[in-house]
Order: sequence, then structure tokens, then C-alpha cells
Amino acid sequence: MEQANMAGMNGKLADFRELTLEEMQDFLVQMGEKPFRAKQIFAWVYRGVRSFDEMTDISKSLREKLDRQAKLGQMRILKMQTSKKDGTRKYLLELEDGNTIESVFMKYQYGNSICVSSQAGCRMGCRFCASGMDGLKRNLTAGEITGQILEAERDTGEPINHIVVMGTGEPFDNYENLLKFIRNIHRKEGKGISLRNITVSTCGLIPRMRDFARDQRQVNLAVSLHSADNGVREEMMPVNRRYPVEELLQACREYTEETGRRITFEYALVHGKTDTDRQIRLLADKLRGTLCHVNLIPLNEVKETGLSGSGRARAREIAAFLEQQGIPATVRRELGADIQAACGQLRLGAGR
Ligand code: SAH
Repeated sequence: MEQANMAGMNGKLADFRELTLEEMQDFLVQMGEKPFRAKQIFAWVYRGVRSFDEMTDISKSLREKLDRQAKLGQMRILKMQTSKKDGTRKYLLELEDGNTIESVFMKYQYGNSICVSSQAGCRMGCRFCASGMDGLKRNLTAGEITGQILEAERDTGEPINHIVVMGTGEPFDNYENLLKFIRNIHRKEGKGISLRNITVSTCGLIPRMRDFARDQRQVNLAVSLHSADNGVREEMMPVNRRYPVEELLQACREYTEETGRRITFEYALVHGKTDTDRQIRLLADKLRGTLCHVNLIPLNEVKETGLSGSGRARAREIAAFLEQQGIPATVRRELGADIQAACGQLRLGAGR
């Protein structure tokens, strides 16, 4: 058997946090092993082991062989903050190449949830957001998205059953790896997370929204709208120049028609910009009749941006107005408010 072939592409060792079950089967067959071993190994990977040696029902010789020919992608917790109020944990994780990403573990009545990053950095350049201030470093692999969940489960000792892809990065700018991650984390031989318990948030990359309606219609889609007015939206989100409001809302309507699924619109309340009476009336006019839900987000103030939030009282007032206009609206609960590390701030704070 030619050993060099086992190393996967680019001479790098194949990462077992990354492979699909079928890829794992092929890998094992190439090693001269029985394909059924793959199921056993896949299950171990999603139990969060960090080395092949922890796979105790696999023979020692196979574990050693795997250790030479493959790897389990590693990430190190550089920093962790725990909210004393609600148990929220924010992680700053270091990847193998030294890049850093964030993820957030949250406890809800319905179970435990995690917010994962899809890229190191981001190239969308939204004005209010801390994650994109240094631009994009690189896409995360599917294994690195999965790793955030496995490390948080290992650290908390608690199972995670809801995932939001709302950390650093634009998931639809890393589409193939996002899809691979979703398929892997959903496999019943591993974690078996229900697709209905996964939410992907996009700033509105229309062609990928269309792909997603075709590829993953059971996963929830959230769209960062933040303004229904091209002038204000463009000021907040440069991506609006490429995909303006009318086209975006049209794509959203097509999405709901094709999938029968409601879209969540995220709407960050920026004082004097997105939260004015005029802006909110416009929002109501543009969304009326669309199968949707508006999630009002009190702005997490990022010092460098000079933007300020509207306050919860104004947020509640806006929610009430939208409801009265027939548009379901809620104000996002603030978790981990006492650890002040929202949206990219951990990474910036660490100077990386
Ligand atoms: N790129 C994806 C995921 C980004 S993060 C997207 O754009 O949807 C998830 C949400 O947090 C987005 O709606 C994003 O616009 C919002 N967000 C980013 N920074 C924020 C801040 N400082 N305050 C409030 N919401 C913020």
C-alpha cells in the first residue's frame, strides 16, 4: 500500500473531524481495514475525542496506524469567559495555523445552543461589526466548524442540540465547507443534530440563498437586513451595493415560496440610523405579506465604530409596532451581557 496516498490532498494528513462517513470508509478500505470500522470511528469523533488513542474499542494497532496516517484537527482554548448570570460561555479558540476564532455556548429552556464561526475574519465589512475589522484571514474547514461544537461540549460536559452559524464570518462566503459541516453534524452515526435545530445567518448573498433553498431546505435561514432602505443599508452594509434591498427581499420571497419556510430577518437597532420611525414604517411596508419573523437586536456597541444602540425600551416599542402591523417580531434576549464579548470583541481584545 502506497503510504503517500493516505495523506489526503496537498500532502496534509486527512482530518477525521472533517471527513464524511463515506470518505472515512474509503480511507479505511485503502488502509486495508473493514469499512464498518468507519462507523465506530465516526461515532468517536463526534463524542469529541482529541486523539485516536481515546477510541478504546478500536484495536491498539489500528489506533497507532491511524495516528500515523491521519489526524484529528486540534484547537486550543486561548481564553474563556463564563457569565455568572446565565452560564453563557464565550471561547476564543486558536486554530492549528495560529488564527483565532470565537464561539459562544448558551443555555436556553429548550436546551443548549452554540454560536459558531464560519471564517477567521470576514470580508463583508459591516460597519457596526467587530468581526470584519481586520478583513478576512481564511475560510474555516468543515472540521474546524465542527471542532467548535466538540470543544464546547467537552469543556462544559453538556450536550449541544442547537446550532446557529452566526459567529465570525459570512457562512455563504464559505458555502461548500458549510454544507459539508451541516451534513456531518446531522449524521445519525455521529451527533445527529436535527436540521431544524440549525440556523444559518447571511448578510444576503442572493445566489447562495438560491442554492441553499435547493441544497438544505430544512435548515433555518436568517437574513441580516438591518434596514429596508438602500441608503441606510448601504451605509451599514457594503454588500448592499451588490445585492440591494428590493432584489434581496424578492429572493427572500422566492425562498419562502420554494421551501415553505419562514425567514428570520435580523434587524440591529442603531440609534438614529436604523431605528427611526421612518425606517421602521418602511420596514413594515416592505415586509408585509412575506412569511417572516423579525428579530430585533439591541446593538452591541463596538467602540471603534462610533455607533450607539437604541436601548431595550425603544426595541420593545418597535416590536409592538411591527406586531400591530401584522409582522411577527421579537427582541433578542441578551445572554452573557456581563461578559461583554459580543460579536468579535474577544478576538480584537486579544490583539489577534
Ligand atoms: N455574516 C452573517 C453572520 C454574522 S453575525 C450575517 O451577516 O448574517 C450574526 C448577526 O449579528 C448578523 O445579523 C450581524 O449583522 C449581527 N451583528 C454583527 N455585529 C453586531 C453588533 N455589533 N451588534 C448587533 N448585531 C451585530
